[in-house]
Amino acid sequence: MLALGIAVVGLAAVAACTTVPGGGAIPVAAPTSATAEHRAVSPLDEPTGSVTSSSSSTRASSTAPPTVTVTSVPPTTKPKTTTKSTPKTTTTTKAKPKPTQTPTPKATATPKPTATKSTATTAPKTPATGPTVSGCGNPNPGKVLLTFDDGGPKAAAILAILDRYRIKARWFPTGQWANANGAMIQRLVADGQMLGNHTYSHPQMLSSLGKAELTRQVDLGYHPTKVFRFPFGASDATSRAIVTGKGYSICGWSIDTLDWRGNSADAITRIVTSQARPGSVVLMHMAFQADVDALPRIIENLRSRGLI
Ligand SMILES: [Zn+2]
Repeated sequence: MLALGIAVVGLAAVAACTTVPGGGAIPVAAPTSATAEHRAVSPLDEPTGSVTSSSSSTRASSTAPPTVTVTSVPPTTKPKTTTKSTPKTTTTTKAKPKPTQTPTPKATATPKPTATKSTATTAPKTPATGPTVSGCGNPNPGKVLLTFDDGGPKAAAILAILDRYRIKARWFPTGQWANANGAMIQRLVADGQMLGNHTYSHPQMLSSLGKAELTRQVDLGYHPTKVFRFPFGASDATSRAIVTGKGYSICGWSIDTLDWRGNSADAITRIVTSQARPGSVVLMHMAFQADVDALPRIIENLRSRGLI
């Protein structure tokens, strides 16, 4: 049916190039299969757009009239028919007032929970005064307390420097070393140095040792004193209970010079002077020359800052 219509229309279009409003005739080539799809323009159609017909090559062969490209035909404005139309009764339907949308309350951004500072479980690095260092029996809480552990050949050199600067430190010899170095222990006590219990043979004071051995380590450590320091800082509830149960306060440290790792005197000096605060407790040992070399510089730096 459509093909028939098209054929009919095509014929009519070719025959009668009726003028198209807005001018110009639109001869369209005889309907070949390509153009058949193009909806041929009938005089009834108001061609508005561009009609391009097929390319000239197919045309040369067929006797179709030359193609004319009509780009665009401005839409004609229908002459207003001035037919007097019955005055429209403009019923001004009052626009129904739009239901006032209750403004959806802006989702108040739930305040993000402020990131709570993670309660670090590990001991604070350099607390000004920390619970772990309050147990060191520092006679001047606002000052830095120097401590020397274990025992070793540098005890006398260290004592000499402290005497030069009139400083009282806390010494934690092991019971074994104290027993083996009684004279040195006596010089320390006589000099007003402070001593502490560091167990008998410096084990890891953990419950794996068993209560009896833990107790033996505490009992054979250096005494009399009420300050106790766990070797390596290692302890657990069982060993802490035994130690505090015997009336000792537990003394940790807040500045580790890492001399036991082989640090140089410069490194040790840098660690202490950069981290020292009022109440800091510095961990050093009686075995290393680096501590002996670093000590005068450390004391002079802290003294210049009123920290010792
Ligand atoms: Zn130790």
